[in-house]
Amino acid sequence: MRWDRLRRVSGGAAISARTAVCGIVLHPAGHTRSPAMHNAAFAKLGLDAVYLAFDVPPAALDGALAGARALGFRQLAISIPHKRAAVSRLDEVDEVARRIGAVNTATLRQGRWVGSNTDWIGAVRALEREGPLRDRRAVVLGAGGAARAVVFGLRERGAHVVVLNRTPERARELADELGADGAGPLEALERTPHDLLVNTTSVGLRSDASPVPARAIAEGALVMDAVYEPERTRLLRDAVLRGARVVPGKWMLVHQAAEQLRLWTGLDAPLEAMAEAFDRAGRADQPA
Ligand code: NAP
Repeated sequence: MRWDRLRRVSGGAAISARTAVCGIVLHPAGHTRSPAMHNAAFAKLGLDAVYLAFDVPPAALDGALAGARALGFRQLAISIPHKRAAVSRLDEVDEVARRIGAVNTATLRQGRWVGSNTDWIGAVRALEREGPLRDRRAVVLGAGGAARAVVFGLRERGAHVVVLNRTPERARELADELGADGAGPLEALERTPHDLLVNTTSVGLRSDASPVPARAIAEGALVMDAVYEPERTRLLRDAVLRGARVVPGKWMLVHQAAEQLRLWTGLDAPLEAMAEAFDRAGRADQPA
């Protein structure tokens, strides 16, 4: 058995010197559910692999990447706040991640760290659970890293996109760079016709706030919140009251993780097992 080959074992495996190691670097690391999702996928697929979380502050990113390489890690997920910084720190970055301007995955290929972005595919696959995206009139709230991936994905699928953000200059910049149709402040939602709304601001994360008032959400729109904690954010609850169909951010996270697994192993990920692991990890994270 070669060390660099992926091992498959039946019935799960005890960790050994041959176990492949993967992980996620982020800061702070307290609430990540990625280890739960990926380890559930490894178990379901019978892969001799383990996935760990590492709390890496920005100043330690270079050291963490060098350490992971030296230790033979197979794949690293790269999360907040490292996604943009990582673009210039890997051996290679694929064309899509370069266009998005953010990397959320580094996969070891022949000793080289190759950067990719799976957030965009996670977002479009989560939305496509509800139907095709071509020609939809989408509004994306936010202009940070997640917004870049979502706007790219929606454009890639042929949707028309307007970007609205608390700081409208950032929305304009993003829209120009990624070919969106318009940009403005969050307050412009009410006068922007839309049948698809995606929140990529961090508003609502572990709070009961929404980035926009309920009355601004178009009746009957499809609404996704990239925020996945809580699962039913205030925005999604408001959207349901407006007759919208909703997609929780959990599905964006599960689909982007599935794509990471595919990039590394070439295998189709067990989505339901990953989603169940995500839910279990959330319950375990609740204060007693
Ligand atoms: P980021 O780069 O820091 O961007 C944050 C965005 O939120 C900016 O547009 C910022 O606006 C806006 N914002 C922050 N506080 C605000 C407030 N009080 N009022 C209005 N707008 C506010 O973060 P990110 O990486 O894009 O992540 C954003 C969220 O998406 C996080 O909650 C993250 O967990 C989630 N996410 C989910 C997935 C998934 O798979 N479900 C993937 C990636 C990210 P300004 O430009 O004005 O500062």
